[in-house]
Amino acid sequence: MEKFLLHTCCAPCSIAIIEELKDKFDLTVFFYNPNIFPEDEYIKRKDEVVKVCLSWDVKMVDKDYEHEKWRQEVKGLETEPEMGDRCHVCFKFRLAEAVRYAAENKFDIFGTSLTSGRNKKALIINPIAQFLADQFEIKFYDEDWKKGGRQERGRKMVTEQGIYRQNYCGCEFSLRDRIIPS
Ligand code: SF4
Repeated sequence: MEKFLLHTCCAPCSIAIIEELKDKFDLTVFFYNPNIFPEDEYIKRKDEVVKVCLSWDVKMVDKDYEHEKWRQEVKGLETEPEMGDRCHVCFKFRLAEAVRYAAENKFDIFGTSLTSGRNKKALIINPIAQFLADQFEIKFYDEDWKKGGRQERGRKMVTEQGIYRQNYCGCEFSLRDRIIPS
């Protein structure tokens, strides 16, 4: 069975993907999201991914919470809107760590749950992932996870299993700019 490393941003975005991939591949979930702020929120989101992995006996790699390093990376882009230049840097920062880990640990394929997000465009994310995969000579699993009924399936599972669903993307700037329904 091929070894697959799935970079996972949160449980709501990845639960349907993990369900789909876990029997097709030797799957490992990779949690590296130092963009998430504050740290309590980071722990909350990570704990939900841990729960999903434990329930299906899927391996998980828990990387460090390097928020200051992430802040340095996006310096000067604090006022960018969601899906602007800051987000491109943020995607690349997280995916580079995943690809590096996949290559160092002899995975055959790597993928990411990032394209599951409602506002996350596969047309932007997947070329970044493909570029990194080419650099490390590893296969990238090119998917738009919003498609094929996965989003609906994910939503259903999140409700049924009482999984925490956040209401902002992740960083302090998305928390600042989030639209709170009146
Ligand atoms: S809005 Fe989301 S994708 Fe964009 S920089 Fe913040 S955490 Fe990263």
